[in-house]
Amino acid sequence: MRIFFFLLPLLLFGEGHIFLYHRFADDRHPSTNISTKVLEQQFKYLKSHGYKVVNSKTLLQKARNGENVDKLVAFHIDDSFKSFYKNGFKIFKKYHYPFTLFVYVEGTDKHFGDFMSWRELREIAKYDKADIQCHSYAHPHLPKLSTLQVIADTQKALELLRARAYKIDSYAYPYGEYDARIKKILAPLFTYIYNQNAGGIDKNVDFQDVNRIALTHNANIAKKLQIKNLNIQNIHIKRTKDTIKEIRAITPYKQIEVYITGWGWRWIKTKNHILCIKPNFTLRKFRNRIVFRVGDRIKTILVLQKSKQTAY
Ligand SMILES: [Zn+2]
Repeated sequence: MRIFFFLLPLLLFGEGHIFLYHRFADDRHPSTNISTKVLEQQFKYLKSHGYKVVNSKTLLQKARNGENVDKLVAFHIDDSFKSFYKNGFKIFKKYHYPFTLFVYVEGTDKHFGDFMSWRELREIAKYDKADIQCHSYAHPHLPKLSTLQVIADTQKALELLRARAYKIDSYAYPYGEYDARIKKILAPLFTYIYNQNAGGIDKNVDFQDVNRIALTHNANIAKKLQIKNLNIQNIHIKRTKDTIKEIRAITPYKQIEVYITGWGWRWIKTKNHILCIKPNFTLRKFRNRIVFRVGDRIKTILVLQKSKQTAY
């Protein structure tokens, strides 16, 4: 077992990547925007470096089958902003690139200004490389909702999408927020569920907890394509309410960089393949990330403030 554990990284192929966009050429929101100029640069980079853009389901299936997905990339677009319809869509068509669009259904159904209409959505769906999927009804912070509220929100979104003949099998968590309870509620409803934790796609991918890497205004795609999953197992986080008391994990590395939102990056030495730190750090935000990193290899974990979550 031990030998297998250490050889594992050598046996694996390279990893695929799913990249996530939100807004296109919309300067009002730089943190979720990509300019059309940068988008084209990224597409040109992929083309000239032999990357193939596929639907994310194809990427996931191939990864699980043990095929080499090193040169495969998939694109997701969350929130169905009008700016994709206006500025982004034509560039995807120009490059014949597929994408999955995750619809914030209430925004579309109630004609909220920034979001696509059903008619615009239908126009996009005519493109044979477009995959229309579900990004909730009301874009809620799911972990703050009761189980019944989560189910109600999801059913409402599914009803409206399916009434328009969209074949829904995928879900992207609003804000990338979820926990074990949310995962369990949504698992029977979708084949593919996507988070927003940076990481690669490899053979061990969990179809219902898939990593995605957000690309915003100045993101360097060449660098993001280098991201691979870090070999770190049995991660255990000991906490009292919102304070991270201890983090333990098993890893073959002698030193690992560890990040916690608000706490920053620290180099941590391991002992006999055990990583153990006692940050004693109180989370200040609702949504936080713990990241383990060695060079381009990373593992990202989402941690939420328990005091603001619903306990049932
Ligand atoms: Zn969203």
